Amino acid sequence: MPQITNKNTKKLIVFNWKMNPTSLEEAKKLFALILTPKTSALPAGRYNLKPNLVICPPFIYSPIFSSVSGHQSSVKLGAQDSFWENSGAYTGEISAAMLKNLGVKYVIVGHSERRNYLGETDEMINKKVKSALGAGLKVILCVGESLKIRKKAKKVIKNFIKNQLQKDLKGLSRVKSQKSNVIVAYEPRWAIGTGNYCQPEDALEIIKFIKNFLNSKFIIHNSRVLYGGSVTGKNIKEYLKFKEIDGVLVGGASVNQKELKRILNII
Ligand code: PEP
Repeated sequence: MPQITNKNTKKLIVFNWKMNPTSLEEAKKLFALILTPKTSALPAGRYNLKPNLVICPPFIYSPIFSSVSGHQSSVKLGAQDSFWENSGAYTGEISAAMLKNLGVKYVIVGHSERRNYLGETDEMINKKVKSALGAGLKVILCVGESLKIRKKAKKVIKNFIKNQLQKDLKGLSRVKSQKSNVIVAYEPRWAIGTGNYCQPEDALEIIKFIKNFLNSKFIIHNSRVLYGGSVTGKNIKEYLKFKEIDGVLVGGASVNQKELKRILNII
């Protein structure tokens, strides 16, 4: 069994519920599972420090979290998206300022499902990143290549990701104080929701590349980079064992009670 060797770093575990579950009752059950005394205490396990856990439910369930979480320090509320303006005539949108006022601490920006299904461009994502940081949220920026690009040489994959980072973080190198609030999630599109997860060593290589690039280009020192894409209770340890992988973003498995329990037991 692999050992989690990164004993001195707090790992960040993000649960992205996507558009699930369909009822409030089910959402409450999931919150309860995560916030039961045993798991909310997040026993140290193989870590010296407890991992930080972030739950990103659909917006509509966010206020429930605040009422059930009490004074949890290790479980934080996140959101799956935010708009780039604070308020105004933008029907259906939710702003970063609104989320901040609700107690949200983290926001996912640039998720590939939004890039794919809703046509979000890097320019839109860049505006969202800036507005979320401006509102005082920590940003979890998702980047990752398609299957078509995956089949090409490693250099092509790295160039694609570099290009995404450059566009999504454009203009941020001048806002030094905000740097530590940007977390990048390497999420290869072909691995999301497919069960076809990226081999941990491959993910590690790209994550090291992202860190080096951020350090050199954006002067974002020690930025955290997560892996996401078909993470389950079965493979989570394979990623967390590397000190360079600062955590994981879990989608489908975080709304499957059996998998969720398994993951909570491990972390
Ligand atoms: C995600 O939603 O970012 C994700 C990684 O999903 P899944 O774990 O289902 O692949």
